[in-house]
Amino acid sequence: MKFGTKAIHAGVEPDPSTGAIMTPIFQTSTYVQSAPGKHQGFEYARTQNPTRLALEKSLAALENGHDAICFGSGLAAMDAILKTLSPGDEIISTNDLYGGSYRLMTKIYSRFGIKSHFVNMDDTKKLEKLINANTKLIWIETPTNPMLNIVDIRKVVRVASKHKIKVCVDNTFASPYLQNPIDMGADMVLHSATKYLGGHSDVILGAVVVKTAALAKELHFIQNAAGAVPGPQDCFLVLRGIKTLHLRVERACKNAKKIAKYLQMHPKVGKVYYPGFKDHPNHEVAKKQMRDFGAMVSFDLKKDSESTARKIMSSTKLFSLAESLGGVESLIGHPATMTHASIPKKDRMKVGLTDSLMRLSVGVEDVDDLIEDLENAFANI
Ligand SMILES: *Cc1c(COP(=O)(O)O)cnc(C)c1O
Repeated sequence: MKFGTKAIHAGVEPDPSTGAIMTPIFQTSTYVQSAPGKHQGFEYARTQNPTRLALEKSLAALENGHDAICFGSGLAAMDAILKTLSPGDEIISTNDLYGGSYRLMTKIYSRFGIKSHFVNMDDTKKLEKLINANTKLIWIETPTNPMLNIVDIRKVVRVASKHKIKVCVDNTFASPYLQNPIDMGADMVLHSATKYLGGHSDVILGAVVVKTAALAKELHFIQNAAGAVPGPQDCFLVLRGIKTLHLRVERACKNAKKIAKYLQMHPKVGKVYYPGFKDHPNHEVAKKQMRDFGAMVSFDLKKDSESTARKIMSSTKLFSLAESLGGVESLIGHPATMTHASIPKKDRMKVGLTDSLMRLSVGVEDVDDLIEDLENAFANI
């Protein structure tokens, strides 16, 4: 089945009791048994919920995985993955990482004896140097936020499999429409469904898609044992979002390409970060492992100035100033003071995260209006 068909049909059956074409929101905490232990596969709603089950089947199909396990947020999903580790185990992660993921590793799991290393995975020699007998997990995020670097998933998987280390890819920025890490050898895929999968900025939810039955069993056990499950209404919202995932992401990518080109030509703009440009350092890798280049674009100003950037961000009307990404509406954000404020300025500047760097999550509006909105904002400075 091709992607667009899977997005609409995978995991979803008409409700057997009524014929309802849409999966009902099973807002229930428990299920009646006809005799002790005699039930229809559903005992208690932390353990099983039909709305959640439909979403899990849909996500597994979209990522070509064996199964998917859903959680109350992207970070709760990541937390479940880290719970598969034990004290003494080590993680190696990409260094340009979602701030919340970094925080979970360094502020919480470090206290339980799990050490995390951060490295630029372009350099497999550096990666191999960090591997030892305790290394149990390699964590990849690609494209990265906000610098939009691309990590070569296949290359890292080759190193990991030599040492029998599991690989998880945070696929939030690409979405399953653009990139399927399990097809490239990854063991697990993390999604913040809050972003492209939900797609309408109205829900927080996370998921892990796994390659094997063994991993599915382990993560379903943690899902039930630790209990960070999503509510059925949130599962419904993500299921509904998924039905238009391919249409939304296709359009958003198209818009982003035009906006990146517009920015590149603009006299007031400095550097534009977009993996679709031929001179992007990872352009060839992006072409190989993604179906398009995504809808995130970062740029800074020729005259690096936080106050000018602030003026731009406060004067756009269609690009709303907000954290998050992946919704139908376009957003603009300021990594230096918003998502990456906790990173020391010296470290930020080293990777190009300047005070005037702005990040766009390009939505699915008419691109001419989006460009006009930016044009008006630039005219203001
Ligand atoms: C938002 C995000 C997360 C965390 O997801 P939540 O649903 O907010 O918990 C993890 N990784 C990436 C890349 C994200 O953008």
